[in-house]
This record gives sequence, C-alpha cells and structure tokens, in this order.
Amino acid sequence: MSCCLCGSGVEDREHLFVHCLVSRQIYISLFGRVLRIPDVQSWSEEVDWIGSKLKKQTEMAEVGRVIWQSWVSNIWRERCRRLYAGKVLQTNVLLKLIQSEVECFFDAHRVSQFWG
Ligand SMILES: [Zn+2]
Repeated sequence: MSCCLCGSGVEDREHLFVHCLVSRQIYISLFGRVLRIPDVQSWSEEVDWIGSKLKKQTEMAEVGRVIWQSWVSNIWRERCRRLYAGKVLQTNVLLKLIQSEVECFFDAHRVSQFWG
C-alpha cells in the first residue's frame, strides 16, 4: 500500500517518519530553524538523533520533546484520518495544528522562544 500522505513509497514506519516528503516537510518546518537536521536513513537513527539533541533537562529541550511527540502523533492521526475518514488536512493546516497543540501544552511564550 502506498503512502496516503505523499502518494508514493511503501507505507511503513520508516517511510512515514523518515522518508515521506509530507511528513519531512512538516518536520523541517518544526525543527529546521532550531536544529541542523541530519539525513537520517531509519527510524532508529531518527530516535537516536532526536534523543541525543533533546536529552538535556532544559526548558528548550522539553519544548522540543513535546514538539517531536506532537509531530509523531499528528502524522499518525492524519494517516488514519485519510484512510478511515476519507478526510484530508492540508500540510500547512497540519503544521498549524501541531504548533497550536504544543502552544496549548506550554505557554505560548516559551514555544515562541524555541521557534525564534
Ligand atoms: Zn509518504
């Protein structure tokens, strides 16, 4: 089964969270201004990399961890929305949804400091 987000690739964890152009576009929008994102090739590399970048017990690392968790859960929810409800959120809407979710989790000021 091809990916319902980008229409190409085999839909599996590796594709959805590492190689999918739609998923990565959102990821880069969330982290690209803050972190130098490496060209990871697998989910385990992604988890290792983000874990090393956000392992500190600082406020900014905590915001980053929540952003990453929101990205993962919202990409999965969008996949399910498209497959089972036949509805589509455009990429920019999905990005705003993640940003709003994170801002609701923290106060907006701390989050805006992360994104600059
Ligand atoms: Zn895809």
